[in-house]
Amino acid sequence: MENLKKDIRALSKQELNEFFVSQGDKSFRGSQVYNWLWNKATYNFEDMTNLSKETRQMLEDNFVINHIEVDEMQRSKDGTIKNAVKLHDGFTVESVLIPTLSRTTACVSSQVGCSLDCKFCATAKLKRMRNLNADEIFDQVVAIDKESRLYNGIPLSNIVFMGMGEPLMNYKNVLKSVEKITSPDGLGMSPKRITLSTSGVPKMIKKLADDDVKFHLAVSLHSAIDEIRTQIMPFNAKFPLADLKDSLLYWYEKTGKSVTYEYIVWKGINDTQEDISALVKFCQLIPCKVNIIEYNPIDDGQFQQGSDDAVAKHVNALEANHITVTLRHSRGKDIDAACGQLANKINA
Ligand code: SAH
Repeated sequence: MENLKKDIRALSKQELNEFFVSQGDKSFRGSQVYNWLWNKATYNFEDMTNLSKETRQMLEDNFVINHIEVDEMQRSKDGTIKNAVKLHDGFTVESVLIPTLSRTTACVSSQVGCSLDCKFCATAKLKRMRNLNADEIFDQVVAIDKESRLYNGIPLSNIVFMGMGEPLMNYKNVLKSVEKITSPDGLGMSPKRITLSTSGVPKMIKKLADDDVKFHLAVSLHSAIDEIRTQIMPFNAKFPLADLKDSLLYWYEKTGKSVTYEYIVWKGINDTQEDISALVKFCQLIPCKVNIIEYNPIDDGQFQQGSDDAVAKHVNALEANHITVTLRHSRGKDIDAACGQLANKINA
């Protein structure tokens, strides 16, 4: 009968308070439980030591706390850690801890698989099975924070939604998870240390602006020419660059916040002068930064990292136009933890 009980983490603080009142108890009991669930990230009613034994038993009788399990943890030579995370219904997703000198970043998944079809991404090879709940995203952060403290002696400092899935296709749960991660009675992390990376869903970028989110936005651009972008990211046919631009203007006008573009240079695909000019022009739309990321080959050799010379030309052209550009090198390659490699044998 266990699984017929309601997952207590699906309840808001107010619903928890109301539940306790309905049991003839005080509403502040709800806040106490909320604090155990979201501030201390407790998975057992037993551990809620400021509640009476009877109250803990009553919770046990009425609810479950569904939670993730870290099924397997791999550590890379460069200190990167990859977790294979088992969800309560058996699906698996991955999350990654990326330590650097200045920060410790958690890269979290937002969906089991992905509904988009970026040709260069390993996750795209899995179809989308389901969205993650807010608590499943939250739990990945908690697990990585624990590992970071254990192995590096420092807490997690940053979070990027760059794992499996398209976060803006799971909008509600992603925003709910950010709420639990940032609120003072949750983990209390600063939203300024969170980056959501999207392949660019115009309608949802506008919604982010309307919702006045405080985290950073990154857009996986990879080409500023429609025909090319549609070849490598076929959903671009549905959401062309003109719509993306329109949504980015809206974002900037509403929030005043800049955007980061992620860009991979591939040999023979987007490495010509025409590509560079289009990129520079795109970058003149609103204040932005460009992260040129290194390609992590996923299999068939259809895509190959652009030459150092081609990458240097991109960097020079952007800098000549006063656009900040950084070169990102891959981490955790030996354990397939780098971007786009977060696919596994699951759910096939
Ligand atoms: N769907 C979201 C977030 C997940 S992908 C998005 O598209 O942004 C996170 C980042 O990894 C994106 O910038 C994506 O373009 C990049 N990426 C995907 N496959 C990659 C690969 N094989 N090598 C390097 N980066 C990759």
